[in-house]
Amino acid sequence: MAWYHRDSDVQKSNSDAYKREFKPGEKAEWPGIYHCINCGDEIAIAGGHTLPAQNHYQHANQKPIIWRLAVYAQQKK
Ligand SMILES: [Zn+2]
Repeated sequence: MAWYHRDSDVQKSNSDAYKREFKPGEKAEWPGIYHCINCGDEIAIAGGHTLPAQNHYQHANQKPIIWRLAVYAQQKK
């Protein structure tokens, strides 16, 4: 689970972006922290970069790696 210190650094969002599930090897559509819904592993990744491949880390429970956006990193344009 992602941790944070200051409430002022994060904001609750109900965007559908947080519902989209990504497979290993897909590009992260948004920059930020992604959470695997089957093991709790987390990664920070730049938008457009490839999410860790299936062979990067194997689950002991045989469930698939499924990444979901947990924290969106809002970048100034
Ligand atoms: Zn996992």
